[in-house]
Amino acid sequence: MNMSAFTDKVSKRRTFAIISHPDAGKTTLTEKFLLYGGAIQEAGMVKGKQNMRHAVSDWMEIEKQRGISVTSSVLQFNYDGYCINILDTPGHQDFSEDTYRTLMAADSAVMVIDGSKGVEDQTRKLFKVCAMRHIPIFTFINKMDREAKDPYELLEEIEQELGVETYPINWPIGCGKEFKGVYEREKREVIRFESIAGGRKEVKEVVTSVDDPELKEAIGEDYFQILQDDVELLDGAGADFDLDKVHHGQLSPVCFGSALTNFGVEPFLEHFLNFSEAPAPRKSDIGEIDPMSEEFSAFVFKIQANMNSRHRDRMAFMRITSGTFTKGMEVYHMQGKKKIKLNQSKSLMADEREEIQEAYSGDIIGVFDPGIFSIGDTILTGKKKFQFEGIPTFAPEHFARIRNTDTMKRKQFVKGITQIAQEGAIQIFTELGGGMEEIIIGVVGVLQFEVLAYRLKNEYNVEIVNTPLPYQFIRWIDNTDIDVKTLNLSSDTKYVQDLKGKTLLLFSNTWGINWATDRNPGLELSEFSQN
Ligand code: GDP
Repeated sequence: MNMSAFTDKVSKRRTFAIISHPDAGKTTLTEKFLLYGGAIQEAGMVKGKQNMRHAVSDWMEIEKQRGISVTSSVLQFNYDGYCINILDTPGHQDFSEDTYRTLMAADSAVMVIDGSKGVEDQTRKLFKVCAMRHIPIFTFINKMDREAKDPYELLEEIEQELGVETYPINWPIGCGKEFKGVYEREKREVIRFESIAGGRKEVKEVVTSVDDPELKEAIGEDYFQILQDDVELLDGAGADFDLDKVHHGQLSPVCFGSALTNFGVEPFLEHFLNFSEAPAPRKSDIGEIDPMSEEFSAFVFKIQANMNSRHRDRMAFMRITSGTFTKGMEVYHMQGKKKIKLNQSKSLMADEREEIQEAYSGDIIGVFDPGIFSIGDTILTGKKKFQFEGIPTFAPEHFARIRNTDTMKRKQFVKGITQIAQEGAIQIFTELGGGMEEIIIGVVGVLQFEVLAYRLKNEYNVEIVNTPLPYQFIRWIDNTDIDVKTLNLSSDTKYVQDLKGKTLLLFSNTWGINWATDRNPGLELSEFSQN
């Protein structure tokens, strides 16, 4: 491919993660995006939680049994000359550290908020990780066809709770049964929400200029007056739109709509494409790597075991950071210090596991992993050697002590949990200076305990007993010169070490964290461990 064709392909790529609290409408919105891109023929394909989730990943028996997906997937679609990659961040019981790690592979995030609920717990958690990376965040306030909170209140809540400025790109007129549509501020147009006779779900988007006398009649005198007042207030009191702030994750453009009725989705997509940027450069130990560079490079952000139940295969999921990937290409694996061939590359299209021929900077690929990759690894083809910045370890929220029931199988047990920890599904902690006899496992999502027990049994023939522990919070100690034994801690605080030998504190409640920071001046605690 000549250089300008390559540059063109990369500059037209957008890779975003979609974040939300369960039930806010993430799946519905994704499905509508795909409809616009023509990637799927009919609505309902992404959804049908049971059916589709099966199609996405029948990789692990446990997924089939539970009808949920343990892994996150990627969807790709084309729209208006752009090639868009959506990274799904699984929630509910399948919330795991992978959910966070997926955010490391995205250049921006779309945050879906339920208009009747506002900012919810999982959104808050995922937002924190986006904020840590300073990636742009685009907000879609969904379900405006239902009773919703006051839009001013919603924006206030986002600003207060998440600590990001907001800028409404459009503004809702009414909500629920009285939802009249949205006012597009720049174009000074109202997109009216009109039901189609006979159709229960689909609505028509009718565009009227805000100065058109017909508008008053269409939305009614009262709403017309409210709109006039809102427009005046927004234009007068609201902050200016600052694209630079958007690109640094300090200001979130906000759109209102209703994914279910397909209202406001296309305008949102267009605004997103307008304000978002092509794949961003990535930090490495020799400086930033330009996505437009022709030399191929990528980093591993996720490892998925056992996609084929008859083999112990692993797939390493990578984000391409520069150049072009071609099937079967030879690359240099930095951490392994070896040349390797990338085989059996899969695109991550949910329902399609065909081998991909080519992929570009910004795309996500999954490649066969004979057990050599770890999360955060770099692969590349150029002469210049470098390593990308590591992927942080995220704070687990559930803890348990685990014990192998058959002491004869100690070796398999240690091998099993070490490998599973290496894939990033669990974190292992031990007593300070202790060995693998007393093991505490920490997980981000509680389902991972089940996955662990299942895999140890099936892959390593080891049975475990699992005793839940009351800890909920973990903090890495950043100070290198502190003897943890001398710290003044509440009696229910425990200290342990991770596999890298770093010391951490386990707390049962926030009160314990406050105790630790209040009574130990200079103690620095963090929620992530930068590898
Ligand atoms: P997810 O858990 O975030 O993926 O949410 P879903 O997309 O599965 O949506 C959760 C529920 O909300 C489903 O029953 C959807 O049909 C419904 N829903 C999604 N978007 C809207 C909307 O705009 N309006 C209304 N009334 N319901 C919606």
